[in-house]
Amino acid sequence: MTDSAPARPAQSPEYILQHTFGYTEFRGDQQAIIDTLVSGGDALVLMPTGGGKSLCYQIPALARRGCGVVISPLIALMQDQVEALRAAGVAAAFLNSSLAVAEAQQIEAQLLNGELELLYLAPERLLQPRTLDLLERADISLFAIDEAHCVSQWGHDFRADYLQLSCLHQRFPQVPRVALTATADQRTRREIAGRLDLEEARHFVSSFDRPNIQYRIAAKNNPKRQLLQFLTSEHQGNAGVIYCLSRNKVESTAAWLQQQGFNALPYHAGLSAEVRANHQRRFLREDGVIVVATIAFGMGIDKPDVRFVAHLDLPKSIEAYYQETGRAGRDGEPATALLLYGLEDVVKLSQMAATSEGSEEHKRQERQRLDAMLGLCEITSCRRRALLRYFDEELAADCGNCDTCLEPPATWDASDAARKLMSSIYRTGQRFGAAHVIDVLRGGDTEKIRQFNHQQLSTYGIGADLSANEWRAIARQLVVRGYLRVNAEAFNALQLTEQCRPVLRGEEQLQLRTLPKTAPSSRSRQGAGSEITAEDQPLWDALRALRKSLAEAHGVPPYVVFHDATLREMVSARPRNRQEMLAISGIGDSKLERFGEDFLQLLADFAEPAAPDAIT
Ligand code: ADP
Ligand code: ZN
Repeated sequence: MTDSAPARPAQSPEYILQHTFGYTEFRGDQQAIIDTLVSGGDALVLMPTGGGKSLCYQIPALARRGCGVVISPLIALMQDQVEALRAAGVAAAFLNSSLAVAEAQQIEAQLLNGELELLYLAPERLLQPRTLDLLERADISLFAIDEAHCVSQWGHDFRADYLQLSCLHQRFPQVPRVALTATADQRTRREIAGRLDLEEARHFVSSFDRPNIQYRIAAKNNPKRQLLQFLTSEHQGNAGVIYCLSRNKVESTAAWLQQQGFNALPYHAGLSAEVRANHQRRFLREDGVIVVATIAFGMGIDKPDVRFVAHLDLPKSIEAYYQETGRAGRDGEPATALLLYGLEDVVKLSQMAATSEGSEEHKRQERQRLDAMLGLCEITSCRRRALLRYFDEELAADCGNCDTCLEPPATWDASDAARKLMSSIYRTGQRFGAAHVIDVLRGGDTEKIRQFNHQQLSTYGIGADLSANEWRAIARQLVVRGYLRVNAEAFNALQLTEQCRPVLRGEEQLQLRTLPKTAPSSRSRQGAGSEITAEDQPLWDALRALRKSLAEAHGVPPYVVFHDATLREMVSARPRNRQEMLAISGIGDSKLERFGEDFLQLLADFAEPAAPDAIT
C-alpha cells in the first residue's frame, strides 16, 4: 500500500459518481443519503444486498474534507474493497493485523498528512485506545459502520465488538455517522438504532425487492439430477454458491461436482483457515468457480457476478434464505435462486428446533420461523410477493419472475389420499416415521411390518397406486399445512393434529401440489441485460479473456477491472474512442486511463470492416 493519490479538490457528489465510478445516475435513496452525510447528518441505511450501499459512504467521504473511516467486520475482504477503490483512482487503505508494522506506520502517517480518502478498519482495531487516539489527531470526514446488523444479539452474525461502537458518537460528536445493513426485519432495525445511538439519525429503508433474481423452489426428486440439469442447462461456466446443511454433504457434493467436470470447491468451518482463505480467493478471482458451502460462507463477499445460489437443504428461516439468495446478482444482471427441499428437511429441521439449546420461548420462535419458511415453499402464489410481505413490503402485482408465476403449479384433489395417510398413521399408533407409514400404505414387505404385524391393518396396501415419492410429497405438505406434526421427541413419528378431523370426516377438501416429474427450468426472464447472441460470442469471449489477463497483471479480481454488465454494454455499444468509452456504465476516468486503450484496441480488431462504397 504505497502509492497514494494526491488529495483532490472538493467535488460534487454528481461529479464523483460520474468521473470516479463511471455511473450516470444515483440509484434509489443514494442521493438523499449522500446529501444527508455531506451536510453533516447521521443516517441509518437499510438496502438489500446489491442495492448500492458502498457508494452511500464512499461518495460523501470523497466529497467532504478528511478521510472516511469504514468499519467492516471481515478483514479478509478489506483488501478486495481497497483494491477496487484504488482501481477507480481513490486513495484508499486498510489497517489490520495482516499488515507489517512498517506498512501500518506508513498508512498512519498518510492519514495524519491528509493523504487518505478512505480507511477500512475492523471494529477490534478501531476500539484499541491507540487507534482512537490516532483518529482524534486526524481529519475524519465520516464513520461508516458496515454490516451494522452485527450489533444484533438475535442475529447469527453477532459481534461483541460492535456493541462498543456507540463510543464513536461520544468521542467524535462532530463527525457524521452512517450505519448500513441488508437485514430487513423490524426488530434488528430497532436494535441497530438503539445500540449505535442512531435514533436521531435519518432512516432510509429501501425496497427489498431484487427483481433480477428469479426465485425457484422445487420439491426434491433426485436432487443430484436436478442440480446437474440446472447447472448444465442454465449456468454452465457461471460462478455460484451451493448451500448445504452439513460439512459432510458439502464435501461430498463438491467432490461429486468435480467429477462432473465443474470447478467446485468446498467451504465450511471444519476446513483450515488457510484452505478456506484459498477457496474464497479462487472464488473471487477465477471465473466460473462454484463454492459448495455451509452458511459459514458469504457474509460480506462483494462478488457482483454470482449468477446463482442453490440450496440443497432447507434454510432455517426466511431471513436466512433471503440473505443467502441475496448474494446472487449484485450487479443487477439476471440470476437464479434455486431451493430444493423435501420431507427429510422438514423432519431434520423440526428436530433441530426441538432439541436446540435455549429457552422454550427461543424454541417457539425458531419453530415459527421454520413454519414461515415451509409456508413459502408450499404456496401456490407468487413467491416474491410472499417474501416481501414477510418483510412488511407489499408488491402491487405478481412478479412474473418466480417459478409459481412462470409455471403456475398444478394442484389435485388429494382429500382421499390424505385420509388414507392419516388413517395409516392412526392405525399404526402415531409412533412411526414417514418411511414405515408409507411402507404400510404401499403394502410393503419389510422386517418392521412383520415385526409389528402391520400387514393385518385395514390400511395395509390401500395406497399402492401412488409411489413412495408421491406419498412423501403428500406427507410433507400435510406437515407444512399443520395437519400432521413430526414428534422430534419420539423418533420423528408422524402424528395427527386437531386440524385432521374435518378432513377425516369428509367435510374438508384438500388441494395439494402435484409432484412435478422434473424440476421446472424456466428460462424466460425479465430484468436487466440481454443474452449474448451467438454472433457476438467471439467478441464476448475475447473481452473476458482480456479482462482476465489485465486482472492477473494488476493482481486484482476480474470484476475489479470491469463488471460483466460493463463488458456487455461494450458488446452492444461498440465504443470506438475514449469519449464513447466513457459513456459506458462502470467506466470512470481512472479505469479509462488504466484499461481503456487495451479494450479499444480489442474492439477495433472486432469492428466490422467499413462498408465498401457502392461500385456503380
Ligand atoms: P451492496 O453493498 O448494497 O450489496 P454494492 O455497493 O456492492 O451493493 O453495489 C452493488 C453493485 O451496484 C456494484 O457493482 C456497484 O458498482 C453497482 N452500483 C451501485 N450504485 C450504482 C449506480 N448509481 N449506478 C450503477 N451501478 C451502481
Ligand atoms: Zn412471482
